[in-house]
Amino acid sequence: MSPIAANLQGVRRRISEALQGDSREVRLVAVSKTRSPDMISEALAAGCRDFGENYVQEAIPKIAAIGQAGACWHFIGPLQSNKARDVAQAFDWYQGLDRVKIAEALSKARPAGREPLQVCIQVNISGEATKSGVEANEVVPLAEAVAALPGLKLRGLMGIAAPSEDTARQRREFATLRVLYEGLRDAGYSLDTLSMGMTDDLEAAIAEGSTMVRIGTAIFGSRERAA
Ligand SMILES: *Cc1c(COP(=O)(O)O)cnc(C)c1O
Repeated sequence: MSPIAANLQGVRRRISEALQGDSREVRLVAVSKTRSPDMISEALAAGCRDFGENYVQEAIPKIAAIGQAGACWHFIGPLQSNKARDVAQAFDWYQGLDRVKIAEALSKARPAGREPLQVCIQVNISGEATKSGVEANEVVPLAEAVAALPGLKLRGLMGIAAPSEDTARQRREFATLRVLYEGLRDAGYSLDTLSMGMTDDLEAAIAEGSTMVRIGTAIFGSRERAA
């Protein structure tokens, strides 16, 4: 078995243990930023379908090399409006939405004939000023704006917890996102994606109701360049 296949097996085991018998599906996005097309192919061969990238320039040639047929591509990074067209054309999902202006640009640039771009609104749950994402009180207005755009389909919320060894703190931050997600569902939005959990905090995220984890390091090894 290749190292990537073995790592994937380990991640799937962590996910199923964290579910503690709960039957919900947790979708695994393999975060392939900084990784070569060969490594992505290896993950594909081991059964991964979802890949996450966060630099547009790096991702476009990789997507071209791997193709869009067998893989589902998630853009998970901050996005400037001058790159919105590239994301709308090359990706299936955008998980970092935090501005109406970007939502409008993405919707406009989504090619006719493709299904809408699937989006998660990113919420700043860590409280760090440097982190992207909307504040809690901005979630509903942004969700309303997205719902009116034909090129986008709102699937849920995404959040990144502050790096911390403190499981209780991780869980508090993820719980904030879950409450916001449930609030939107109660308000009538049909959502199915609560995207939270990375290599170091997937157990806490799943304990708080995550339905999608974004895992890089535990699948591909440590990254050389900070990302
Ligand atoms: C890099 C990244 C991840 C994956 O992080 P790991 O700690 O390597 O699992 C997940 N989500 C986002 C938004 C990222 O940028």
